Amino acid sequence: MDEMLTAIVDAARPRFTEGKVATYIPELGKAQADALGLAVMTVEGEGHSAGDRDYPFSIQSISKLISLALALTELGEERVFSHVGVDPTPDPFNSIMRLEMDRVHRPYNPLVNAGAIAVISLLPYGESESRTAAVLDLARRLTANGTLAVNESIYRSEKTTSDRNRALAYFMKSTAILKGDVEDVLDSYFRQCSIEAAVGDLAVMGATLASGGINPVSGERVLSTRVCRVIRALMATCGMYDGSGEFAIRVGIPAKSGVGGGIVAVVPRRMGIAVCGPSLDGKGNSICGMEVLEELSRSMRLRVF
Ligand code: GLU
Repeated sequence: MDEMLTAIVDAARPRFTEGKVATYIPELGKAQADALGLAVMTVEGEGHSAGDRDYPFSIQSISKLISLALALTELGEERVFSHVGVDPTPDPFNSIMRLEMDRVHRPYNPLVNAGAIAVISLLPYGESESRTAAVLDLARRLTANGTLAVNESIYRSEKTTSDRNRALAYFMKSTAILKGDVEDVLDSYFRQCSIEAAVGDLAVMGATLASGGINPVSGERVLSTRVCRVIRALMATCGMYDGSGEFAIRVGIPAKSGVGGGIVAVVPRRMGIAVCGPSLDGKGNSICGMEVLEELSRSMRLRVF
């Protein structure tokens, strides 16, 4: 198994030249473009990894799964989905256009920036500090890593440059989709995006979602089976942004990407997989990460569609 994973990583790595690391958050521009790590964790708790398995990266949009899981657990589907839809959008992850154009000003889904920011604003935890603490606590339980933490330089870098997210949030405040203080809600969003992890952590999180909520490493029930099912469905339809359809055909596994280069993928009842390769395509998805997942899906027959 380890040999096969290493061969897949080695074969995919040269493709990093086809993309670029994200630089719109200046600190992300320091990422190592040719880094590529892969980790697999089965629902029985058997782990394997290859390549740059210890490479630390900020989970970015992958954190949207965590705040959504927290909101669904605390508030229920009806309340959450009255503020954000559940359908894919053909627009980029940070698009503003449709928020104003559509008659109902709800973001399309919780995995694009506007949707995630709206969901965070619903979390019943007072201010940014306690909201972030709750998200971080769930992240630690999903990964069975009690030391996960926010990378402060990435957090500050995004906070001082993120005018696009500010525009989304203020617009949603004007239409009463976003609750509370805009800057405080955004502060939680920037912090959760800056949580730093390695692929092994996210493979455990993927396995927890694959098993229906039981973390295979700690043995803890972290989420309900229903919340896991909703999250997996949204990953399958919206997790790779406007590349979700193509990814479903190429790879055929529910997955969620982040602009730090990470992708977490979930094979229901079987395993979680995580990859990180910071060189991204034009849609914000890791080029080598997708290549690795396609090859792994083919050789292990992991497709769910
Ligand atoms: N923090 C990033 C942003 O808001 C997350 C986007 C992503 O990972 O796709 O732009």
